[in-house]
Amino acid sequence: MSTSKYIDDAQEILAANGDYSNLSDKDVYVPSIQVDRTNVYFISHANDDKHLVVYETGSTTGDFDAVESAEVGEGTGKKLLVTELTKVNNDALSKRFPWLKPISRHGYKYTFGLGDRLGNASNAHLRLFKGRGIFPILGQQSIRELLLTDRTELDVVQSAAWAIFEEGWTEGWGADGDHVKEPYEVEYAVESGCTMITLDATKKIHNEIADLTDEELDAKFNALDDDYVKYFTDTYLDKTFDLGDGAEVHFTKKDMEQSVLIFFDAVLYGEYIYHRFIEPNSLDFEISMDETIVPTTPANHYFFGNELNVRGITPETLAPKFYGEFQKAIDYIGDLDRFEREYKIHQAISKHFGYRVSIHSGSDKLSVYPIVHKLDDGTGWHVKTAGTNWLEAMRVIAKVDPELMKEMYSYAYNNLQDVKPFYVFTADKDNSPKPETITDDNVMSLLTDDNPRQIIHTMYGNLLTYQESFRYVFRDRFFDTLKKHQDQYDDYLNRHIAEHIDLLQGKSASRDEVRAKYEPK
Ligand code: ZN
Repeated sequence: MSTSKYIDDAQEILAANGDYSNLSDKDVYVPSIQVDRTNVYFISHANDDKHLVVYETGSTTGDFDAVESAEVGEGTGKKLLVTELTKVNNDALSKRFPWLKPISRHGYKYTFGLGDRLGNASNAHLRLFKGRGIFPILGQQSIRELLLTDRTELDVVQSAAWAIFEEGWTEGWGADGDHVKEPYEVEYAVESGCTMITLDATKKIHNEIADLTDEELDAKFNALDDDYVKYFTDTYLDKTFDLGDGAEVHFTKKDMEQSVLIFFDAVLYGEYIYHRFIEPNSLDFEISMDETIVPTTPANHYFFGNELNVRGITPETLAPKFYGEFQKAIDYIGDLDRFEREYKIHQAISKHFGYRVSIHSGSDKLSVYPIVHKLDDGTGWHVKTAGTNWLEAMRVIAKVDPELMKEMYSYAYNNLQDVKPFYVFTADKDNSPKPETITDDNVMSLLTDDNPRQIIHTMYGNLLTYQESFRYVFRDRFFDTLKKHQDQYDDYLNRHIAEHIDLLQGKSASRDEVRAKYEPK
């Protein structure tokens, strides 16, 4: 029984009066310590496992589900509990510490999404975000990501909530049901505790309209009911909308017709989801169009924002598909000057309608962040990164177990066709190193060169779930190695995300500068 040891720990914590530098038991994770009058709570890291330890007045401990418990005695009226990190215990804890529950991002200017596919990156992220003035969205998974990793939304939100307690993060956090498309997916995210919904309106965005000739477009527009044709024409045709600071949006006939025929259906879908889920549950609303085919022009964006506004809907954020390519896990591909011109207008449109721009697939887009920082006029932004945590985890594998890395790369390389339909990316067998050419000396290049990096990035689900003879081939070895080297993983994660936020906050000026600053050791 470890209860007597923990009773001593709790009493030592009470006596220490806030200074825990000389705490005798090194298993007590100091950032997690919470003292509430004469009650004490902390996370213990004994034997490579994490437990919640509760030292509390005996009459209230019934909320917790303990694996071990003992009366403290000596007239204290206290009980000592050791519990697993379960939902029941997290709920009990959050009654005592309300900051454990995810909350709305509303009112925060700078918010940052940190999808944690493996469920063990949030602690490192929170340590990095201390004092940065950026609100973290820790739980952030799409349904596709859940399927590929055999996880559930509840599991994602819970992993994050426990990290919040462990790191003593009292400044607020959010949970994002990312890229949910169908009403049942939205409902699932809400039921799992998400405070933010990112509605992916792809199914209602009619990309095929972009391929029509001007005559076909015109005919299709004029085939709409007369009241619609009149309303849209009166509102948009040949109109210029002044957004201040030299930003304006003008609608030609083609701009108007395309905006209506490509996006109006999605506006109506957003309105439906808003009234059914967002408003009744007081959720943060984001609408994303980044995973569609056609870029969102400033006119398209203005149209979308205005039509939501007409319906009394102000999302918290909206994610346009920006000009250029935001491929997964590599830097931006495209004309940065044009990105800058259009981003400025996208931001002005958002500001005009009272929301912020959201940048998706934000991992590694280091050459656009100095622009985002430069153009920020206090409107703020939301940036989503995800998935590249997985690449930092693979960096750990490459460093401490190059043989496993080589095996995993070889599998990914040879089975790349499995993921080609799901992602837009340029990496291919032809432009990536053959597995037999990878040695201990060049194994790290798999994570720094764009093509093999994309292969490993996009194959994460296949790698984690691949089985032979009913047994996982990589999963258990991968997680065991990562757990043993969590400190190395945390270090890599911090360097990686620090590159992003330093550029966004203007603490570094360029991609090269920030890369040099945080180059992994
Ligand atoms: Zn997205």
